[in-house]
Amino acid sequence: MYLPGIGPKKAEVLRKEINVVSWEDMLYYFPYKHIDRSKIFKIREINGNMPFIQLKGKVRGYEIVGEGSGRRLTATFYDDTGSIELVWFRMLKQIPELYKPNVEYILFGKPTLFGHRFSIAHPELETEDKFYEGEVGVQGQYNTTERMKNAFLHSRALQKIITRILENVQSPLPETLNQEVIAKTHVVSLDEAIRNIHFPKSADLLRKAEYRLKFEELFYLQLHILQATKYRERRLGGWLFTQVGESFNNFYHRNLPFELTNAQKRVVREIRQDTNTGKQMNRLLQGDVGSGKTLVALLSLLLALDNGFQGAIMAPTEILATQHYETISQLLAGLDIEVALLTGSTRKKQRETLLPKVLNGEIRILIGTHALIEDTVEFKNLGLIIVDEQHRFGVAQRAKLWKKNTIPPHVLVMTATPIPRTLAMTVYGDLDVSVIDELPPGRKPVKTFHVYSEKRKNLYESVRKQLQAGRQVYIVYPLIEESETMDLKNLTEGFENIREIYPEYHVCMVHGKMKSADKEAEMQKFVSGETQIMVATTVIEVGVNVPNATVMIIENAERFGLSQLHQLRGRVGRGADQSLCILLTRYELSENTRRRLAIMTETNDGFVIAEEDLKLRGPGDIDGTQQSGIAFDLKIANLSHDGQILSFARDLARDILDDDPMLEKPSNTVLKQQLDKMNRQRQMGWFMIS
Ligand code: ADP
Ligand code: MG
Repeated sequence: MYLPGIGPKKAEVLRKEINVVSWEDMLYYFPYKHIDRSKIFKIREINGNMPFIQLKGKVRGYEIVGEGSGRRLTATFYDDTGSIELVWFRMLKQIPELYKPNVEYILFGKPTLFGHRFSIAHPELETEDKFYEGEVGVQGQYNTTERMKNAFLHSRALQKIITRILENVQSPLPETLNQEVIAKTHVVSLDEAIRNIHFPKSADLLRKAEYRLKFEELFYLQLHILQATKYRERRLGGWLFTQVGESFNNFYHRNLPFELTNAQKRVVREIRQDTNTGKQMNRLLQGDVGSGKTLVALLSLLLALDNGFQGAIMAPTEILATQHYETISQLLAGLDIEVALLTGSTRKKQRETLLPKVLNGEIRILIGTHALIEDTVEFKNLGLIIVDEQHRFGVAQRAKLWKKNTIPPHVLVMTATPIPRTLAMTVYGDLDVSVIDELPPGRKPVKTFHVYSEKRKNLYESVRKQLQAGRQVYIVYPLIEESETMDLKNLTEGFENIREIYPEYHVCMVHGKMKSADKEAEMQKFVSGETQIMVATTVIEVGVNVPNATVMIIENAERFGLSQLHQLRGRVGRGADQSLCILLTRYELSENTRRRLAIMTETNDGFVIAEEDLKLRGPGDIDGTQQSGIAFDLKIANLSHDGQILSFARDLARDILDDDPMLEKPSNTVLKQQLDKMNRQRQMGWFMIS
């Protein structure tokens, strides 16, 4: 606020909107992209694969086309060499007011091939006089919000503020890496990096600035995670599971219904090793849907039992908890191991008899939902907690699990959402990762088809054959509209429509707005076979097991992330029959979308899909990371592209900590100060993640 031209009002907006309160914060508010304003292209020159470019011309022929989710405003932009289509999906009313015909504009945007024509979605247009305020060359563009724009803090204003700050700060800016790190990485100084990220003197210096800042960001993140992990290992210790005993052996030799896959055997071995070190196990078990994680969970639980401990499984929903309870009770039949179920709907009476048995150790395996975390649930000696489908649980909830015994129980987190390596390294730090990369023998992979809505009638007829053969069908709708009521309307219409098409079958409906008891009741109808068709939103995504369901139809499939589609597809293909997954879309699609859907039809490998998803959409969209409560506040590094920098930063951070765990050496003072500062600012509680 003391900077000329800012004042208390603008300062307040900056604080509220982008959390900038100091000059330093402002300098670390990096451009989200850089553009080369030095060249203006002719429309004739446009070809595939161009980045953001500039054109000069006029707009004509506004028109609103399409319906529902496809409703959009189009116009033509032309110069003396040709024309290109412009498209807007938002502000359909305002745009024609804003950009008038017969005015010459500098257009800025990215051309994409749509069908056979190039078009530019949501272009930025400016009149020439505004544009040529003495700016040429490579420029930074800053993200701004609506409220910032209203306070005249648009991208260009931020540029000016940063210029002024750079004129007034101490020069050079104080270095934030130590000599050793700078020497090993050959990065440019902080001063050079900050100045060039905002006002690049050349493309080469911009690249160096980006590298330095990305490296620094990932380096400190890794330093933090690795240090916290070391601390945890030293301080906390872990229970020892030294022996394989009666429970494990009896189950293995008498009850195991099939041979374990090699991948399952390997993971059990890894878990045995972890629990025999005196440190707490924090293991993430990734295995595609249907890969047999439950069995691994059970074997680990039996290991805990054999060493005098109790075990628990926590699942995100009541249905899943109940399914686990039933499966595990069946698997343990005749072995005299007491297993119990505890969920939100466990009655008070039942609780009253159950909880004392958990406390006195009679109940050896407790399976349930969030209800397990409550303080009233006390164990005699809990040694292992298995968390299924981890991403539905928040960090704080998991931290509570740790307190269920005098030293924290071992934790095995199971997920079917494959997390790409770079992401796992960042989000989970030193959580060890096991992978089941092999499906049990004899599975028929789900066949996936991309079908256009125009062919809907034929589709419904083929589906009828499946229904006639006694199979069940899922139909999933995405959240499309900005308003929830519209979404519900879409879903309900779909539901009514399906009932008309298949009058001879029972249809149920599930969506997120329903009370959870109603939701469970509807799902139960499908699980029991009382209904043959389930119309739903993505609430069915996680874990439900209905082996008789063989068809998954996904409406507006283009609206889903790949990992999400893969999860949905995982709901079928669980029985002996060939299953189908149908991705329904309209015919007009962007190249990118076509590519994404093609990946789904080409592969069933969740890891390939997750990597592709990360490349195509970026990490913010990866399923689960948002819900997991780990904010992705990386300012400049990008996990989908900067995997190499991340590995390098991690190795270097590890070397430094191996040599000086508390960063007490004088040569590491800078690192320690910087880390302390970051911890204060972000209050990173990340080491409690697992
Ligand atoms: P997920 O990893 O999705 O939780 P489940 O544990 O539910 O998978 O296993 C899926 C199905 O595969 C179950 O019906 C289970 O009985 C079966 N299964 C698990 N392991 C094996 C195996 N080694 N051989 C044959 N079938 C197996
Ligand atoms: Mg499962």
